[in-house]
Amino acid sequence: MTRKAICAKETLVDGKFISGLAVIIENGSIVELLDIGQVSKDTKIDHYSDSVLVPGFVDIQVNGGGGVLFNDNPSVSTIEKIGSAHRKYGTTSFLPTIISDDLEKVAEAIAAVDEAIKSGVPGVEGIHIEGPFLNEQKKGIHDASKFRRLSENDIKLLTSLKSGKTLLTIAPEVNDNELISTLHHAGIILSAGHTNASYEQAMSAVNKGISGFTHLYNAMSAFESRAPGVVGAAFDSVQSWASIIADGHHVHPAALKHAIECKGIQKTILITDAMPTVGSDVKEFWLGSEHITAKDGTCKNHEGSLAGSDLDMISAVKYVNETLGYKLEDAIAMATLSPSSFMKLDDKIGAVAVGKKANFVLLNEELSVTNTWIDGLPDNH
Ligand SMILES: [Zn+2]
Repeated sequence: MTRKAICAKETLVDGKFISGLAVIIENGSIVELLDIGQVSKDTKIDHYSDSVLVPGFVDIQVNGGGGVLFNDNPSVSTIEKIGSAHRKYGTTSFLPTIISDDLEKVAEAIAAVDEAIKSGVPGVEGIHIEGPFLNEQKKGIHDASKFRRLSENDIKLLTSLKSGKTLLTIAPEVNDNELISTLHHAGIILSAGHTNASYEQAMSAVNKGISGFTHLYNAMSAFESRAPGVVGAAFDSVQSWASIIADGHHVHPAALKHAIECKGIQKTILITDAMPTVGSDVKEFWLGSEHITAKDGTCKNHEGSLAGSDLDMISAVKYVNETLGYKLEDAIAMATLSPSSFMKLDDKIGAVAVGKKANFVLLNEELSVTNTWIDGLPDNH
């Protein structure tokens, strides 16, 4: 790929918006950040004088999009459809997420993600395996008949992804913490979720290698005066990250704000937990035996329980910015830097900086996504 430059009205670099900056890209990476006047004459510059350029969003929990659910058919084509649906909303890196299912299905999902990375499907950085090693007391919309305990035999499967990162959401109190430790030492990123652990159990799991909390507040033991629960452990373990669904439905804005204040911008991760309805006209689907309908910004079963979300990344960023009142640069950091550092991908993605992948989102004045680039390639290439 030839050398080229992108120059927007402002570019988000190191947490600040800078004007007049040219981002020079070559072979899919950012090679230089220059003042527009310093760009050599033979470099083609694309100007976007009404828009801001920010790092592409990183979504570590994506069950579906574009009308398809990863669990239904864990294949390269499903991953492609999900990726292109979410790209319209600024996601340039993602982890296809397989929710509690038979281990044969998990194996298929891992193989599909490996194949997708190998064949260059844009934006795939690994897999999120959410269950089946969960606590049925906090099953949420998962099918508890699929739940099981982690065994020695499962280690091989869970560490089998050859390229990219593996994130595993697990309930520490119902699983052998030594096996959790083994997974941690094998390089698996671990997050506590769908868990009814006590504060003490959750804190001890953090010492065994759990570094994250999946969709904070939802499907976990609550924060109470004498029993701070998993939520309390998330707040108290300063080294851990917490992901959160900022759609205005999963978490009350006051609770969300409190979480961000406790964890800090750098340890709060915006996720979508998106279902097939995102980026699709299809507004209903089956999740196993549950019929789910998307309406008024939520996905719910017939009993009214939330089943994942109808959320996209730019809407989450806008919610944190406009409804909660955080600066745009901070809201974007929670969708870029925080998930990248949690997943140990921050050497490649999550910021507009020299040496990183040329993954960007261009936002207009209304904060709508107008263009994206993945590995330096525009969405309309
Ligand atoms: Zn979940």
